[in-house]
Amino acid sequence: MLEKLFGQKKQKAEQEQEVKQESQKVKTAFYWATSCGGCEEAILDVREKLFDVLDKIDILFWPVAVDTKYSDVEALEDKLLDAVFINGGISNIEQKEVVKLLRKKAKAVIAFGSCAHMGGIPGLRNLYSIEDGLERVYFTTPSTYNPERALPSEKSELPGGGEVTLPPLLPNVLPLEEVISVDFYVPGCPPLPETILKALEVLLSGDIPEDNVLGAESKSLCNFCDRNQSKPENLSVERYYRVHEKAIPPDKCLLAEGVICLGPVTRGGCGEKCINVNMPCRGCYGPLPDIDDMGLRFLSNIASITCAGEESTDESKMRDAIATIKDPVGTFYRFSYPDSSINKLVRRR
Ligand code: SF4
Ligand code: SF4
Ligand code: SF4
Repeated sequence: MLEKLFGQKKQKAEQEQEVKQESQKVKTAFYWATSCGGCEEAILDVREKLFDVLDKIDILFWPVAVDTKYSDVEALEDKLLDAVFINGGISNIEQKEVVKLLRKKAKAVIAFGSCAHMGGIPGLRNLYSIEDGLERVYFTTPSTYNPERALPSEKSELPGGGEVTLPPLLPNVLPLEEVISVDFYVPGCPPLPETILKALEVLLSGDIPEDNVLGAESKSLCNFCDRNQSKPENLSVERYYRVHEKAIPPDKCLLAEGVICLGPVTRGGCGEKCINVNMPCRGCYGPLPDIDDMGLRFLSNIASITCAGEESTDESKMRDAIATIKDPVGTFYRFSYPDSSINKLVRRR
């Protein structure tokens, strides 16, 4: 009898402990807006180390992995969620509404990945009108075969009855912070597992860096790059090359060899992933803390290194060298066009 009583007491104490531990967990949500899915994959790439973190967090909304509905989020108390991670830029009405709802329910919002941080690669569609963008994507890319000229429409009848609706597109892809206030940023396309773990540790410890960028360095990628030693102090580039146009020795600075590498203006912290496979940095970890517009700052670097040798003051030679830069917007603003001063200016008009 006594044994049974002690057993019940023990079970009750364990249950109470479990409830207490649950209530102490950090309440989180994850949402993807205009995302390729890579940022969601990146979370899974953390692999077994994710379990250590999962022990400390409770995920209440994660459309890609858990069957929760928007109504579940609406039903939550305001500010109940400790941290909401949002990846992808904002490019349609539904995403705009969902992130506003999540902002209402969250103590802290984290822009996760380059697209949420700066607009990302899908943000290059801001160079075009919606109509021209659709025309290009659905009809004229070299890999498109669409003889019936099918386009997605806002409403479609389903064969067995019923209809599906698509949310209308916004005229531009927006970085998250242009729609709601953002507390923290985790950079990268996608953020590396090391960056994610570091960011989570920083968040859980409360030891937040001043610039609110989590998991990355505050020094440039060049500071961490082994090839930096080969970069001459007075750099002069007489012509630029695309990656397939010139073989670059593995110990040579790509920029010094004429391949545009955004290392000087990009935060370190990615483990020099692209450089290690002989590819230039395109800036996915975002700008250094003192840079507002990374493409613009890099353009100023280009102006100072192009034909910078003593004998190279000939303007036409400089123009010829600059003309060898192909796809300047895609090169200087691959991840950050919606966050650039030029795109913000165009959008304000
Ligand atoms: S940041 Fe990169 S990986 Fe993440 S959603 Fe955007 S394109 Fe995909
Ligand atoms: S410019 Fe690129 S290759 Fe050169 S040192 Fe910097 S990161 Fe390395
Ligand atoms: S090298 Fe540059 S583009 Fe490549 S992962 Fe690192 S920050 Fe991103």
